[in-house]
Amino acid sequence: MKTIVLGAGVIGVATAYYLSERGCDVTVIEREPGVALGTSFGNAGVIAPGYVTPWAAPGMPAKLLKYLLKPTSPLIFRPALDAAQWRWIARWLRECDLARFRVNKQRMQRIAYYSRECLHAFRAQHAFEYGRSQGYLQLFRSDYDVELAQPALNVLRDAGIAYRELDADACAQIEPGLAWSRVKPVAGIYLPDDEAGDCARFTRELRAVCEARGVKFVFDTEVLALESAGGKVTGVRVRAVPGREARNRREQRRAPAEVLRPADLAEPAADTSPHTLAADAVVVALGVESAALSRRWACACRSIR
Ligand SMILES: Cc1cc2nc3c(=O)[nH]c(=O)nc-3n(C[C@H](O)[C@H](O)[C@H](O)COP(=O)(O)OP(=O)(O)OC[C@H]3O[C@@H](n4cnc5c(N)ncnc54)[C@H](O)[C@@H]3O)c2cc1C
Repeated sequence: MKTIVLGAGVIGVATAYYLSERGCDVTVIEREPGVALGTSFGNAGVIAPGYVTPWAAPGMPAKLLKYLLKPTSPLIFRPALDAAQWRWIARWLRECDLARFRVNKQRMQRIAYYSRECLHAFRAQHAFEYGRSQGYLQLFRSDYDVELAQPALNVLRDAGIAYRELDADACAQIEPGLAWSRVKPVAGIYLPDDEAGDCARFTRELRAVCEARGVKFVFDTEVLALESAGGKVTGVRVRAVPGREARNRREQRRAPAEVLRPADLAEPAADTSPHTLAADAVVVALGVESAALSRRWACACRSIR
């Protein structure tokens, strides 16, 4: 089956891997010049199925409202006269109820644990280095943060997930770098079975595994639309990213003067007119349009050793 995967982040490349394993003829399309140059380039690389948490959580509406009043808010909200937007917000508010939160969290955890099993099975087959480390430390900077985390802790307890509640000193024993932190945590949770790794590095290695299996990667190509006939997707409308091809050629020469020069008019321009790539199936893995996580409640980072 000829299958096109849209997006070469970790999700798209992993999807391509599993599809090729099942005998599909896979092509991955990506607007950037390589894999993992979107969110997968700069995420925190934490694999924490024990701590996956829905954003719809008790206490979250009040917390987000507070953020919206700050100039450095990690959340941007543009109210519109759009019924769909307000319906979505009403549904989100309903899901912040404690009972719904518990159901949603358990569902997310089931998927996350299954994904981690897949990762471990994959690692047993393809042993490559991607900066992996064991354990996950979650820090709380205020008593309010500790209070907000309680429903999530109850879910961990009920699910029998291994975790330790830590005071500030115990956090610093696990992460000695906290000695230099200006704002000390008041407490933390440590999940010994969770792990972390360099997501971009993992994705680049995975690309090599995919290519060895015959997966094709088409870079510098923007997806414009899905094409369909008779209620079935038949292909993908794409075009070369304007100006990208000439710029890449200049960058490959690595001469600073060349790289800094404005667009080289002498080079033939890439054909940027839209065209269609046919497919029996299309998998969309285009990630999010934009995201901002900075927190006290969501600034995730990884120590580089
Ligand atoms: C700050 C931050 C920290 C995070 N930390 C973690 C973490 O620790 N653990 C975790 O599990 N998750 C984390 N996440 C979530 C993270 O987004 C995912 O884990 C993962 O990186 C998403 O991969 P993806 O392949 O879906 O998206 P992406 O990596 O964004 O890939 C999507 C790709 O699609 C391409 N694309 C988009 N539109 C088009 C188009 N029209 N045509 C062609 N190509 C297109 C993009 O260029 C991009 O390469 C974090 C997210 C953020 C923002």
